[in-house]
Amino acid sequence: MRVTARDLTDARLLREALYGLVRAAMAGREPDPADVERVNAVAAQPDLAPQLGPARWTARSPARAALATVARDAVLLVRGPLLERVKECENPACSLLFLDDSQARRRRWCSMDRCGNLAKIAGYRSRSRAASTR
Ligand SMILES: [Zn+2]
Repeated sequence: MRVTARDLTDARLLREALYGLVRAAMAGREPDPADVERVNAVAAQPDLAPQLGPARWTARSPARAALATVARDAVLLVRGPLLERVKECENPACSLLFLDDSQARRRRWCSMDRCGNLAKIAGYRSRSRAASTR
């Protein structure tokens, strides 16, 4: 799939609009009308079409269709019951939001590989530092 500079810019603009939209929904606030307009415009584009055979998805403009799929998913997310499972990563240096799909609903990090391991390492270091000063 070929991605143009414009596709990349559109993806970044959508990412920011989605962040604002989901943040507002999480806080029970009205979203910024500009965010709503952008997400709605992208969601209204043709999305990826499922296919039989080796190519599982198709679209005339795959990058734009992928963004449309993301925007549609976000619209359904903020209007549906899964919104209450959206959380902010507990790493203060991370601003990612994630869907806690764990059974116990106690997930704390956007990713264990990323922020979860950083927190584990930081915890281990502060415990071993405390132990060595005793
Ligand atoms: Zn994180």
